Amino acid sequence: MTPSSPASVPPSIAERVAEVRTRIAAACRAAGRDPASVVLTAVSKTQTPEAIDAILATGQQVYGENRVQEAQGRWIPRRSESAKGLELRLIGPLQTNKAVEAVDLFDVIETLDRERLARALAEAAMRRGRSPRLLVQVNTGAEPQKAGVLPDQADALIRAARDAYDLTVEGLMCIPPADQDPTPHFVLLRDLAERHGLSVLSMGMSGDYETAIRCGATHVRVGTALFGERNRP
Ligand SMILES: *Cc1c(COP(=O)(O)O)cnc(C)c1O
Repeated sequence: MTPSSPASVPPSIAERVAEVRTRIAAACRAAGRDPASVVLTAVSKTQTPEAIDAILATGQQVYGENRVQEAQGRWIPRRSESAKGLELRLIGPLQTNKAVEAVDLFDVIETLDRERLARALAEAAMRRGRSPRLLVQVNTGAEPQKAGVLPDQADALIRAARDAYDLTVEGLMCIPPADQDPTPHFVLLRDLAERHGLSVLSMGMSGDYETAIRCGATHVRVGTALFGERNRP
């Protein structure tokens, strides 16, 4: 194969988006679910302005970011000019001292994982007059280095967020251990959400979003499969 042959050209972002959307729809059909019941969150952390322009041009409107400051730089200038319907979701750990900035920028914060952060978000929402929807992140594998509330403390956190701090918790999020079958983790999250009457399940990444859809994911967070391998931040 010569370097100029078409087969050696990496797929464009538009082609990757189309393929992921096709696979999401197929996974939904295989699971007897409506394809419209799964939202594709494009994980845009570390991506260049060119890559962001390219994916916005496909009509993609929902984005996930890991870091508040990086997301401000990428999205504040675009937020006003571009897409109505743009939705920004924080999917990385949040420090309490960044709560105000996070409340200002994000439509959804997926990483509520401790009561102190619930309090900080409630105070920030009051101060700014803006209340992002929230997901509680659950550390389903109880990994010491990973963010997220431990499964046996999740009930208490969900109740405290709703009752003590009057926050809108709409669902749960998890990142299963990298080296394990994700299915039991997805099922644990789904069962926990069901017990609390929560409708949103953010689970599944590039390597396992079809499995997550089979287990009930309503939001899949996909980076590499859309943009190619990430630049290191
Ligand atoms: C980076 C990241 C993703 C996307 O991972 P890919 O494997 O590139 O799809 C999803 N969720 C979270 C929380 C992330 O940090």
